[in-house]
Amino acid sequence: MSYQQERYIAELAVQRATLLTQKVFFEKAKGTVSKDDKSPVTIGDFGAQALIIQAIRKNFPNDEIVAEEEASSLREDKALSAEIWRLVQDIKLEDAESDKILGGPLPSEEGMLDIIDEGKSSGGPKGRIWALDPIDGTKGFLRGGQYAVCLGLIVDGDVKVGAIGTPNLPVDDRVAITASTGAQQTETASNGVLFSAIQGEGATSRPLSSGVLAPSKSISMRPVPDIAQAVFCEGVEAAHSAQGDNAAVAERLGITAPSVRLDSQAKYCSIARGAGDIYLRLPVKKGYQEKIWDHAAGDLIVREAGGQVTDIYGQRLDFSKGRTLAANTGVVAAPKAAQDQVIDAVKVVLKL
Ligand code: AMP
Ligand code: MG
Repeated sequence: MSYQQERYIAELAVQRATLLTQKVFFEKAKGTVSKDDKSPVTIGDFGAQALIIQAIRKNFPNDEIVAEEEASSLREDKALSAEIWRLVQDIKLEDAESDKILGGPLPSEEGMLDIIDEGKSSGGPKGRIWALDPIDGTKGFLRGGQYAVCLGLIVDGDVKVGAIGTPNLPVDDRVAITASTGAQQTETASNGVLFSAIQGEGATSRPLSSGVLAPSKSISMRPVPDIAQAVFCEGVEAAHSAQGDNAAVAERLGITAPSVRLDSQAKYCSIARGAGDIYLRLPVKKGYQEKIWDHAAGDLIVREAGGQVTDIYGQRLDFSKGRTLAANTGVVAAPKAAQDQVIDAVKVVLKL
C-alpha cells in the first residue's frame, strides 16, 4: 500500500487551510486584539477544520476523523457562524483544478457545521483515522509567532502520513532556530513551509504556495557528534511542559545554550530539518493525556527524517488508544543515535 494520494490530498488541504489562517491573522488578529480575545483563534480554528474535513470527505469518504474542534458552540452563535461561513467561501487555491480536487465550495452554512462535527471519531486501534489540529499553537498564532496546521493519517494505530503547514517558519531548511524564530515572524516574505512524510519513504519540505504544490526537497535531522552542542527546543507555554525539568535534562547533557521556545508542532518540523536537534516536553502535572492531533504528523515527520520520538520512559508514542496518547507521558524527540542518552538524562532528572 502506497500512501502517495493521501499525502497529496493532505498537503493540498493543509496548504489551502493556511491561506485561511493567514487571512484571519492579517484581518483580525494583527495588533488589534487583546491577549485574551479568542475570536481570531476561534474563527481560524473552525474555518480551517471545515476546509480540511471537506477535503478528506471528498477524497476518502469512509475514513474517520479525530479533530480538535466541534460545532456545538458555533450552532448557538449565529453571528460567529455566519462570519466563518463568509470567510471559508472566499478561500480558494489559485489553481482551479487543485481546488476542485479538494471539493470546491462548501455546501451551505448548515452543511459547514455538520462537516466540522465529522471530526468527532473516538479513534482507536483499527481502521483509517485522520488526526487534525486546525491551528496548533493558538497562542503563537495570536502573537504572530509559530503555529501549525497539522494533519496525520493513522492506519491500524500506526501513523502512515503526516502533513504540517507552518506559515511562519523560514523556507530555508538550513536556518537554525533561535529565540527570534518563536517571536513575531509574520512580516517575512521568505517564510511559510509545508512539511510531509510517508511511513518508510522519508520526509520532505517545500515552500507553502497559494496554488499547486511547490517542488519538495527531502529533509533529515543533522548528526550530533557532541551532544553538549545540541540545540534543544520546548514550548513557549509553561503550562504545557515543565520548563525547569527540560532545562535540568539539557544541563545533564552538558548543553549550556538556553532552550529555543516555539509554539506548536513547528518544534517537530524544526528538528526534522536539522534546524535544531532535541525537543523536550516533560509533563507539568501527572495525569495529563497528550492529544493525538498534537503529535501524529510531527511524530512521523521526525522519525522519517532520522529521529526517534518517545515518551519520558523511552516508549514510542501509541496512537491506538483513542483521542489521546493515554499510554504515554510527555514527549522526547532526538536524532536516533542520541535518543538513549537523552532518555537516560530524563530518567535521572525525573527520578524514574
Ligand atoms: P505547545 O505549542 O507545544 O505548547 O502545544 C500546544 C498544545 O498543547 C495545544 O494544542 C494543547 O492541546 C496542548 N496542551 C494543553 N494543555 C496541556 C498540558 N497541560 N500539557 C501538555 N500539553 C497541553
Ligand atoms: Mg494543538
